[in-house]
Parts: sequence; structure tokens; C-alpha cells
Amino acid sequence: MQKKALNQGLLKFLQQSPTPFHATANLAAILQDSGFSELDEGEAWKLKAGKYFVTRNQSSIIAFVIGKTDRTKTGIRMSGAHTDSPCLKVKPRPEIFSEDYMKLGVEVYGGALLNPWYDRDLSLAGRVTYQAKNKQIHNLLINFNQPMAVIPSLAIHLDRDANKKREINAQTDIPPILMLSGKSQTLDALLKKQIKKENPKSNLQKVLGHELSFYDTNPASIIGMKEEFIAGARLDNLLSCYVGIQALLSADPGVTSLAICSDHEEVGSASAAGAEGPFLKAVLKRMIPDTEDRLRAIAKSLLISTDNAHGIHPNYPGKHDANHGPILNKGPVIKVNANQRYATNSETEGYFSLLCENSEVPFQKYVTRTDMACGSTIGPITAKEIGIRTLDVGVPTFAMHSIRETAGVDDTFHLYRALSAFFTDTGHLGAG
Ligand SMILES: [Zn+2]
Repeated sequence: MQKKALNQGLLKFLQQSPTPFHATANLAAILQDSGFSELDEGEAWKLKAGKYFVTRNQSSIIAFVIGKTDRTKTGIRMSGAHTDSPCLKVKPRPEIFSEDYMKLGVEVYGGALLNPWYDRDLSLAGRVTYQAKNKQIHNLLINFNQPMAVIPSLAIHLDRDANKKREINAQTDIPPILMLSGKSQTLDALLKKQIKKENPKSNLQKVLGHELSFYDTNPASIIGMKEEFIAGARLDNLLSCYVGIQALLSADPGVTSLAICSDHEEVGSASAAGAEGPFLKAVLKRMIPDTEDRLRAIAKSLLISTDNAHGIHPNYPGKHDANHGPILNKGPVIKVNANQRYATNSETEGYFSLLCENSEVPFQKYVTRTDMACGSTIGPITAKEIGIRTLDVGVPTFAMHSIRETAGVDDTFHLYRALSAFFTDTGHLGAG
């Protein structure tokens, strides 16, 4: 795939994936279009050489290619990413009526940067569980897909210190405004209307539950004088999800490869569908049922965990270690942390460095300032759960966890080329 097509595909994917549920459905559609067969965790699997994918909770997905070569010798090439991003999630009974306005109460999901949520044209999307007229329970995804809410800033005239010290109380300051009056309005009624519009055959009788989040309707776009940046919501980490799955499509069919995109990374990954849950373990067990063979295969495998990395901000260069300030468009960043907040070790770093060099992909290195705390990601969690050698990498990004983040158009392609080289590497993964 060429750079332009990859970035255009990413823009479209971001636009169509306001929630982990939508991201998973869209990744599944890409895989299906490329000849991957869907598996159901509740059914018996009869796997042979071929291409498969499976989802859990409609919000995590594992895609894999089973090759004919002996996995106890060649191992499994794995890439990892996460489908979730920090956002505002609607409370179960969210209706708030104040000063003749209807607002919706929200929880903050993950470590969201809250300031940028003000004055945006927000919409609402997610999963709804409902009872149908035949009494059965169903899930479906909805997306209002139109600007329908706003969190207005308080005017500076009413808070003269706003530029110096405005604090945000997440309970009282950020419930988005939906409409004027509407005293008798309920979210359930709005959902019913929307479900009927999007799914006329849903046979909806009663809404039972929902997992809805607000998102910015402003679409992702290519920006900068030289059109060298990509700005959009959820680049952390839908960029890696999209690029990882696209790279898997070109995997060598002879060897075994796998890409996992899991939910709940932003809240610690400890869930049935998260990286600390049993999803990957369960799939590996079914791919290689014999324990001895599976453990041998895992010992030969390698995971490239692809989350984003902090690009050095030219207005705040002091926030980075002087020797480790990744620049946008200068290649994926190998992330290192002595305290295992990243799982990279010298061997996995060595493997990835050579992989990049051999494919003429530039790469950079990142370590957090020693006087600052380091974030973490799915890499160390998966390494701990599976016992797999792991490397943490990511494209350099500005404004991580903002409602709009910025990355480089070259870096999506650099990461794609590095992962494609990984998925077509039929040799030994790591030191001999
Ligand atoms: Zn992330």
C-alpha cells in the first residue's frame, strides 16, 4: 500500500470509529473483505492454515494468519494496539435539567485532557443493549453522527483568572448541553428514536443499557504547510490499530502472525476484553492446543506493542530528556523504561532496529525524563500475562489524550513498512 492511500484510509477509519465498538466492527469489515473468516468464541474451532479473526465484547479483536510452517520453530509474529481512547461516557441515568437546559451527566473515561472538550461540536455514539418485541436481548451500535451537544466555556469576563488557573470539576463543569427545555425528555426516548432510524428492523421494545460516549464531529484531516501532519481524535491508538491490521493483510502466509487490538487500555486493561484479561491466552490455546507446543511457540515469538509516543513539543522542549526527543515524521519510536513501564529489552530493541534498518525505515528512541513519571501500555501487561518477548514502539504524537491529537503522515507509513517487514520475516525473531 502507498503512503497516500494508507493515510486516506486512516482518516476514513478514524471518522467511522468514534468508539471501540465501531473501531472493532470496522476492523472486522476490513479483515472480512480481505478473506479472513470470523470465528465465534462460543463455537468449536477447527483451525487449519488460513486467515481468521475473532472479537470479544464487540470491542477487542484478534486477527491471525496460520501458516504451514512449524510454529514451535518459527514462533508467532504478534502486533498489539488498543481500541479505546479517553473520552466522556454517559452515565446510566444521565438527564440533568438546569436553567431550562437539558444536559447529560458524564463520567471521564481514562486520563482525558479535559480543557480541549470545551466549545466542540459533539456527537454521541456507542453500544445499546435492548429488549426486542420477542423478549430477546440484543446489542447494537449507534452513532448520532451529527453535532448535537456542546460544553460551552465560561466567558473570560466571568472568570478573569481563566488563563492562569481555571480548574475543571468533572462532576459539575463538563456535562454537555443537549437542548433547551425538554423537561419531559429522556435519553432512552432519544435512543429509541435513533435506533429506529439507524436500524428499522431492530424490533426494539425497551432500552436496557448503554455504553455511549461523546466525540468531536470535526473530522480528522491532513494539516500543515506541507501537508505533513495528521490531526484527529483517537490517533492514540486507532492509528496503530489501523496500521497493524493493514500490515497483517500482507503477512507471509507461510508463517503464523497475529494482530491484537484490545479495549480498556486507558483504564488499566484489567477486563475480560482488555490486555490483562484472558482473551489472547484463550486464542493462543485454541491455535496451539498442546501445552508443550504452545509454550515452545511462545518462547520463539515476539510482540511489537504499538502505542503512541510523546513527540517533543517545540514550545515545551524541557519536558523531554535532551537525548530522547522524538520528532514527528522521523520514524517509529522505540520506548524504553528501566522500571518496566515499557517491555522493551536490548534483544527486542536490537531486533526492531535491524528490521527497520533492513527496510530503510528510520526509527527513534524514547525514555522519559528521570524526574518524571512514565506512562505505560499493553506491552508490559501482555508480556506479564503471556511470557512473550515484547517491544514497545509508537509513532511520535503531540497532545496525547486531547480531543484532537497530531501525528505525522510519514510516520503512519514508516510504522506500516516496519510491521509489514515483521509480518513477512520468515526467519528467527531475536537473538540466536
Ligand atoms: Zn495509547
